Formats: sequence, C-alpha cells, structure tokens
Amino acid sequence: MKEPDMAKLEQLRSALHFLVSLLEEGSLVDRYDKDMREEFASVLRLLVEKVDDLPLEVPENLVHATAVRAIIGASEKSHLAEMADKRDKLERNQREVEASASIQGHLLGEWERVKGSEMENQATCQVCGGFVYVSDSSVYNLLLDDCQRM
Ligand SMILES: [Zn+2]
Repeated sequence: MKEPDMAKLEQLRSALHFLVSLLEEGSLVDRYDKDMREEFASVLRLLVEKVDDLPLEVPENLVHATAVRAIIGASEKSHLAEMADKRDKLERNQREVEASASIQGHLLGEWERVKGSEMENQATCQVCGGFVYVSDSSVYNLLLDDCQRM
C-alpha cells in the first residue's frame, strides 16, 4: 500500500477506537438508547479485532463476513462474557505450558490458532519439533522432559 493509504488507515483506526470509547462512555450521545449504544460499541470493537486477524489476501466476501460476525458476536452478550472467560483460561494454560517448556529447555515458536477454532492454539518447539496444544479446558503437552535436537 502507498504511504498516504497507510496514514489514512491509521487515522481511521484511531477515529474508530475513539468512537467506540465515546459510545461506551455515553455522555456525548446520551440521546442514544443505552443498550443499543453499548451493543454498537461492541460491534465496532469486534469488527476491528476481526479485521486485525484477517490475513492480507482474503476474498472480499470473507472481509464482509467479519461485519456479520461482529454483529452476531455483539448480540450474544452472555456468550461474549463466556468467551472472555474462556480466553482468560486459554491464556493461562498457554502461560503455564510456556513456563514448563522453558524449564525443560524447549524453545516454543509463536502460538498458532487451530484452524476453525477460536479457543484452541498450538505451538511447536523450534529445536526438537515437540508439540503442545492448549484450549481453554485442556492441555496436551507432547514435549519431552528434556529438549533434544532431532
Ligand atoms: Zn524442544
């Protein structure tokens, strides 16, 4: 992308984040219905997250799908709270695996999301090729007790 395009994108992102905070805080837009205001804020927040997660080269229909998924996600408030809780557990599991892997001398690469799942991640040791899988509720640690180059 050209540099002016990138600058515009940053401006748009910044304005969008500020809009979300205005909607959440509410004093500027107190004539808006409170529930709709908060839900709309969460739609926008979700949209930004989902677009951030998109690979650069995806078909337009998948880009549009992020908007639908943002709306669906925001309409399920209890579901969102549950997801946040699961995400915390997933991250806690990842941190625990990282700590034990590091003690055993493994060098884990980046966590990668398992395709088709939001709450399952995997990582591979860069040295021995050993593998770990975590979700919010389970850990499958297939790393050896000592890291050894294969
Ligand atoms: Zn290893």
